[in-house]
Amino acid sequence: MTATIRYGLLGWPVKQSVSPQMQGTGFRALGIDASYELLPIEPEHFDQRIPELIRDGFAGWNITIPHKGPMLRHLDEIDPVAAQAESVNTVCNRDGRLHGWSTDGFGLERAVNEAFNVKIAGGTFVFWGTGGAARATATHFAHHGARSLTLVNRTVAKAEALGESISRFAPDCELRILSPADDDALRGTFADCSAIIQSSSVGMDGTSLSIPAALLAAGMNVMDMIYKQTPLLKAAAQLGCNTADGRAMLLYQGVKSFEIWTGRDAPVDAMRAALDTALDA
Ligand code: NAP
Repeated sequence: MTATIRYGLLGWPVKQSVSPQMQGTGFRALGIDASYELLPIEPEHFDQRIPELIRDGFAGWNITIPHKGPMLRHLDEIDPVAAQAESVNTVCNRDGRLHGWSTDGFGLERAVNEAFNVKIAGGTFVFWGTGGAARATATHFAHHGARSLTLVNRTVAKAEALGESISRFAPDCELRILSPADDDALRGTFADCSAIIQSSSVGMDGTSLSIPAALLAAGMNVMDMIYKQTPLLKAAAQLGCNTADGRAMLLYQGVKSFEIWTGRDAPVDAMRAALDTALDA
């Protein structure tokens, strides 16, 4: 009898994650005997746990906050875009050698395409918030031919650092760095972009508005990376914007991880249904 293949999610905390339901459903739908375990690891124990995971026979894992950067130092091979973004969320253990990717950018790309029929190549995008998620996804967008990126962040120095990193490998991508207080420049940029990506953590509490409603107008494409209906999405919908939350991004980053691990096409519909059930519970 063959042993169950083990996968998991490393993070701190991880208990709120719905990835076990999504990935577990995917494995069952294809008849793959695999488990997906939550692996809470405190930051101070992270380095010692990686060799233990290899020893315990884990075939691969996802990584979430705060380990996406620290994972890099344990990899034997890394996808160039993940290296550029200094962020890894998917690891494959191939005979003890660890290979790393970031699938967040792919997830956002598919989500934006599905929601707004917008392609990344040649597109113009605003990222509102430049933390870890924006770092991984904006880097992916630049790598895949975005014509222009506007990076907006409360701490402008962080947006500048991301912009410098992107401009080193994507010199043709036009970059603009703005503060949330740059009203006039923001208004012009919003009026002329393919999609606005809300990538800060503001709005997770269900009450705080991230992007001022005064910047929005009917017909704009507004995506919030947060998985649920946020005050931003409610305000944007009332103003006639096209809106989407972060569920599809979550789905497609998981789909890509699944395909990296199994080498098979993921059962997307089954995984989406499992995700919806888990998030709506
Ligand atoms: P992070 O690294 O902690 O970054 C947080 C970002 O939010 C920073 O840009 C930060 O600005 C900004 N921010 C936090 N509090 C703020 C406030 N009070 N006012 C203004 N800006 C504020 O987090 P992350 O990993 O990038 O995640 C960001 C969001 O994306 C989270 O809501 C997360 O759930 C979501 N996400 C979704 C997916 C998905 O699959 N849908 C994947 C990853 C993340 P400063 O730099 O100024 O602190």
